[in-house]
Amino acid sequence: MKPIFFHFLIILFSLSTCFGQNTEVNYFKKLNSKEKNVIVNKGTEYPFTGEYNKHFELGSYHCKACDSPLYRSNSKFESNCGWPSFDDEIKGAVTRHSDNKLGYNRIEICCSKCGGHLGHVFKGEKLTPKNVRHCVNSISLVFKPLVPNK
Ligand SMILES: [Zn+2]
Repeated sequence: MKPIFFHFLIILFSLSTCFGQNTEVNYFKKLNSKEKNVIVNKGTEYPFTGEYNKHFELGSYHCKACDSPLYRSNSKFESNCGWPSFDDEIKGAVTRHSDNKLGYNRIEICCSKCGGHLGHVFKGEKLTPKNVRHCVNSISLVFKPLVPNK
């Protein structure tokens, strides 16, 4: 084999290593153990305890792990369920998975960018005209105000 082919292989290998460093594992490295318990291990924070449960300011909610924008404040509503509730996501930001962990089917929602666990989505409760409730753990989110405080 010609040496140039080996160079090509080495470049390919280093490229894949770079991609490897940007995967979800790295997004999750900076999280503390409470955050990891929900975002990585798909736990649930206690109801009515989360930072954003009663939070209604103008802005957007981003993924705690990878900073991807997930929800806008105009989709947030008071559901009294104990967790932040949204009736719509930013298009493409959230991915749905089937979850049978509790013995019945729920739809788990994850950040589309890093795969971090957000919560579950419920339909048909008639709480808003969109008839959808994204039940999201506060700890999975970071709020960014529309007009940053100076
Ligand atoms: Zn994310």
